[in-house]
Amino acid sequence: MNFDLQRNVSLKRFNTFGVEALARHFVRIDSMAQLAELRAHPLWSEGPRLIIGGGSNLLLTRDFEGLVVQIAITGRDLARVEDSDWVVQAGAGENWDSFVRWTLASGWPGLENLALIPGSVGAAPIQNIGAYGVELKDRFDALEGMDVETGQVVTLNKEQCRFGYRDSIFKGDLKSRIVITGIRFRLPKNWQAVLDYGDIRSELTQRHLTQPSAQDVADIVTAIRRAKLPDPAVIGNAGSFFKNPVVLAEQHSLLKTHHPGLVSYSQPDGGFKLAAAWLIDQCGWKGRSLDGRAAVHDRQALVLVNRGGASGADILALAHAVQDNVRQRFEVELEPEPVIV
Ligand SMILES: Cc1cc2nc3c(=O)[nH]c(=O)nc-3n(C[C@H](O)[C@H](O)[C@H](O)COP(=O)(O)OP(=O)(O)OC[C@H]3O[C@@H](n4cnc5c(N)ncnc54)[C@H](O)[C@@H]3O)c2cc1C
Repeated sequence: MNFDLQRNVSLKRFNTFGVEALARHFVRIDSMAQLAELRAHPLWSEGPRLIIGGGSNLLLTRDFEGLVVQIAITGRDLARVEDSDWVVQAGAGENWDSFVRWTLASGWPGLENLALIPGSVGAAPIQNIGAYGVELKDRFDALEGMDVETGQVVTLNKEQCRFGYRDSIFKGDLKSRIVITGIRFRLPKNWQAVLDYGDIRSELTQRHLTQPSAQDVADIVTAIRRAKLPDPAVIGNAGSFFKNPVVLAEQHSLLKTHHPGLVSYSQPDGGFKLAAAWLIDQCGWKGRSLDGRAAVHDRQALVLVNRGGASGADILALAHAVQDNVRQRFEVELEPEPVIV
């Protein structure tokens, strides 16, 4: 056996909420060959399985009575150079932010707006990570993984992944079916900075930058994120806990009549994306807690935090209370972003 199967492992350091939960069995996988071997092991089919990377989009509400598999496959390099793109690849277990910084240092721009997002490369397609006007899908070429039902190694291109807003086929038809082992990215030679989102422009003005490099953009995004978002190393959290809900034009105009301050963004399909943080803030949740342990962050209403000693169930109870309030006041359903186990 080429892997180290452990019993009754605490998952506290494997989830950025920092909640306590035990894994009945835990294993770290470093290669596709190990994954194939694990799939043939009796424990694989004995009970439930949970694949994890960095645990930064995960809410563990109970002990896990099955097998937790951490994908730790590393490696990154330039796969090929095409007329219009650099094609770069990385193992699923690479740290996302380190990978982004490596591409920038190598002179391949394109991922700078996604700097400082926690977690692994392999988890990035699951919810099509996005920040500051760029989503994974904008730079994605293809991924490799194992179809765990058949044991086949599969390659999926962008269309096959059916990326959407914080969404992909891995949350739908292929849920729990593909273990991602590596990803290829297309980084454009004809790069153009994406600057029209959040506070990027005002930061550029402050720094007297008119023609920012990709590294400048990464530095700015990093600075804005550090100022706005709580650091999981200091206070447990999983970033935004709720997706921004998308409503039809009719509902949007009704909401706008009753709540003129509503913050929303029109969508190409005619719908409107509502700022979930605004809805939550309007219900008075910023900085509030039900039990003193799980709380809504005091500067960012979209982020739920573990002030210390919260269980996953405490955080889930808080999330439900926030959802109930928003539903009563706005008739809008908030959908959680992290995977709840
Ligand atoms: C402070 C903070 C800020 C954040 N900001 C953002 C942001 O700006 N934008 C954004 O989109 N997200 C953000 N997130 C969420 C999170 O960082 C991303 O979703 C990230 O991609 C999760 O990576 P992970 O390795 O930690 O995944 P995990 O939490 O370990 O897993 C998440 C899901 O992916 C699955 N999974 C993980 N690895 C694999 C694999 N190799 N194959 C198949 N399935 C897999 C898991 O089963 C689970 O369903 C933030 C989180 C935090 C804590």
